[in-house]
Amino acid sequence: MATELCPKCNGQGIVSKPPYLAGDINEWSSSESQFTCNLCNGKMVIDTEKDGAFTVPVHLAEAFRNSPYNKDALRGDKLYWQLEAQAKQQEIERLKDDIESLNNGYAQLEEDRERLKDVEIKVLAALAEKDAEIERLKEEISFLSNF
Ligand SMILES: [Zn+2]
Repeated sequence: MATELCPKCNGQGIVSKPPYLAGDINEWSSSESQFTCNLCNGKMVIDTEKDGAFTVPVHLAEAFRNSPYNKDALRGDKLYWQLEAQAKQQEIERLKDDIESLNNGYAQLEEDRERLKDVEIKVLAALAEKDAEIERLKEEISFLSNF
Protein backbone atom coordinates (compact mmCIF):
# COMPACT_ATOMS: atom_id res chain seq x y z
CA MET A 1 0.00 0.00 0.00
CA ALA A 2 1.38 3.36 -0.99
CA THR A 3 0.26 6.18 1.21
CA GLU A 4 0.72 9.90 1.30
CA LEU A 5 -0.13 12.47 3.93
CA CYS A 6 -3.73 13.59 3.48
CA PRO A 7 -3.55 16.86 1.53
CA LYS A 8 -6.82 18.18 2.90
CA CYS A 9 -6.12 17.99 6.63
CA ASN A 10 -2.35 17.97 6.25
CA GLY A 11 -2.15 14.65 8.05
CA GLN A 12 -4.14 15.87 11.07
CA GLY A 13 -7.19 13.70 10.47
CA ILE A 14 -9.37 16.64 11.48
CA VAL A 15 -10.45 19.84 9.81
CA SER A 16 -11.79 23.04 11.34
CA LYS A 17 -14.61 23.46 8.84
CA PRO A 18 -17.56 21.05 8.47
CA PRO A 19 -16.53 18.87 5.52
CA TYR A 20 -20.08 18.81 4.14
CA LEU A 21 -19.91 22.53 3.39
CA ALA A 22 -19.06 23.64 -0.10
CA GLY A 23 -15.53 24.93 -0.55
CA ASP A 24 -16.51 28.56 -0.91
CA ILE A 25 -18.76 28.77 2.15
CA ASN A 26 -16.85 30.28 5.01
CA GLU A 27 -19.57 30.93 7.58
CA TRP A 28 -21.47 28.31 9.53
CA SER A 29 -22.73 27.74 13.03
CA SER A 30 -21.76 24.67 14.96
CA SER A 31 -20.78 23.95 18.54
CA GLU A 32 -18.03 21.69 17.22
CA SER A 33 -14.65 23.22 16.51
CA GLN A 34 -13.20 20.26 14.66
CA PHE A 35 -14.52 17.69 12.25
CA THR A 36 -13.27 14.41 10.93
CA CYS A 37 -11.55 15.02 7.61
CA ASN A 38 -13.74 13.69 4.82
CA LEU A 39 -10.87 13.03 2.44
CA CYS A 40 -8.90 10.57 4.60
CA ASN A 41 -11.82 9.82 6.95
CA GLY A 42 -9.62 10.71 9.91
CA LYS A 43 -6.92 8.22 8.92
CA MET A 44 -4.47 11.07 8.24
CA VAL A 45 -3.06 9.37 5.18
CA ILE A 46 -4.60 8.39 1.90
CA ASP A 47 -3.94 5.25 -0.09
CA THR A 48 -2.59 6.55 -3.37
CA GLU A 49 -3.11 3.21 -5.11
CA LYS A 50 -6.71 2.94 -4.08
CA ASP A 51 -7.71 6.58 -3.95
CA GLY A 52 -5.45 8.10 -6.55
CA ALA A 53 -2.59 10.48 -5.97
CA PHE A 54 -3.27 13.96 -4.69
CA THR A 55 -0.49 16.13 -5.91
CA VAL A 56 -1.92 19.44 -4.77
CA PRO A 57 -2.37 20.09 -1.07
CA VAL A 58 -5.30 22.22 0.02
CA HIS A 59 -3.10 25.01 1.31
CA LEU A 60 -1.60 25.37 -2.19
CA ALA A 61 -5.04 25.45 -3.75
CA GLU A 62 -6.00 28.11 -1.24
CA ALA A 63 -2.87 30.11 -1.97
CA PHE A 64 -3.79 30.03 -5.66
CA ARG A 65 -7.33 31.10 -4.89
CA ASN A 66 -6.13 34.11 -2.95
CA SER A 67 -3.80 35.15 -5.71
CA PRO A 68 -4.55 38.59 -7.20
CA TYR A 69 -4.13 37.06 -10.65
CA ASN A 70 -7.45 35.92 -11.96
CA LYS A 71 -5.99 32.96 -13.83
CA ASP A 72 -4.25 31.62 -10.70
CA ALA A 73 -7.38 32.19 -8.62
CA LEU A 74 -9.38 30.16 -11.11
CA ARG A 75 -6.73 27.47 -11.03
CA GLY A 76 -6.95 27.45 -7.24
CA ASP A 77 -10.73 27.14 -7.48
CA LYS A 78 -10.40 24.24 -9.87
CA LEU A 79 -7.89 22.41 -7.66
CA TYR A 80 -10.01 22.99 -4.62
CA TRP A 81 -13.12 21.64 -6.30
CA GLN A 82 -11.17 18.66 -7.58
CA LEU A 83 -10.22 17.85 -4.01
CA GLU A 84 -13.80 18.34 -2.87
CA ALA A 85 -15.02 16.08 -5.65
CA GLN A 86 -12.49 13.43 -4.68
CA ALA A 87 -13.54 13.69 -1.05
CA LYS A 88 -17.17 13.21 -2.06
CA GLN A 89 -16.16 10.25 -4.20
CA GLN A 90 -14.40 8.78 -1.16
CA GLU A 91 -17.59 9.15 0.87
CA ILE A 92 -19.59 7.50 -1.90
CA GLU A 93 -17.15 4.56 -2.01
CA ARG A 94 -17.35 4.16 1.77
CA LEU A 95 -21.15 4.21 1.62
CA LYS A 96 -21.07 1.65 -1.18
CA ASP A 97 -18.88 -0.59 1.00
CA ASP A 98 -21.34 -0.15 3.88
CA ILE A 99 -24.26 -1.07 1.64
CA GLU A 100 -22.42 -4.11 0.34
CA SER A 101 -21.62 -5.40 3.82
CA LEU A 102 -25.23 -4.77 4.91
CA ASN A 103 -26.43 -6.73 1.89
CA ASN A 104 -24.04 -9.56 2.73
CA GLY A 105 -25.32 -9.55 6.30
CA TYR A 106 -28.87 -9.64 5.03
CA ALA A 107 -28.13 -12.59 2.71
CA GLN A 108 -26.52 -14.41 5.63
CA LEU A 109 -29.61 -13.78 7.77
CA GLU A 110 -31.85 -15.13 5.00
CA GLU A 111 -29.70 -18.26 4.84
CA ASP A 112 -29.87 -18.70 8.61
CA ARG A 113 -33.63 -18.23 8.47
CA GLU A 114 -33.96 -21.00 5.86
CA ARG A 115 -31.78 -23.30 7.98
CA LEU A 116 -33.87 -22.55 11.07
CA LYS A 117 -37.03 -23.34 9.09
CA ASP A 118 -35.60 -26.77 8.25
CA VAL A 119 -34.70 -27.34 11.90
CA GLU A 120 -38.20 -26.26 12.95
CA ILE A 121 -39.79 -28.74 10.52
CA LYS A 122 -37.61 -31.56 11.88
CA VAL A 123 -38.38 -30.64 15.50
CA LEU A 124 -42.14 -30.53 14.76
CA ALA A 125 -41.94 -33.93 13.04
CA ALA A 126 -40.07 -35.38 16.03
CA LEU A 127 -42.68 -33.91 18.41
CA ALA A 128 -45.52 -35.43 16.36
CA GLU A 129 -43.76 -38.79 16.55
CA LYS A 130 -43.41 -38.50 20.32
CA ASP A 131 -47.10 -37.52 20.62
CA ALA A 132 -48.07 -40.61 18.64
CA GLU A 133 -45.86 -42.73 20.88
CA ILE A 134 -47.50 -41.27 24.00
CA GLU A 135 -50.93 -42.06 22.55
CA ARG A 136 -49.83 -45.65 21.87
CA LEU A 137 -48.53 -46.01 25.43
CA LYS A 138 -51.77 -44.57 26.84
CA GLU A 139 -53.78 -47.11 24.85
CA GLU A 140 -51.49 -49.89 26.06
CA ILE A 141 -51.93 -48.77 29.69
CA SER A 142 -55.70 -48.58 29.42
CA PHE A 143 -55.73 -52.02 27.74
CA LEU A 144 -53.57 -53.48 30.50
CA SER A 145 -55.62 -51.84 33.28
CA ASN A 146 -58.66 -53.81 32.09
CA PHE A 147 -57.13 -56.99 33.48
ZN1 LIG B 1 -7.50 14.16 5.86
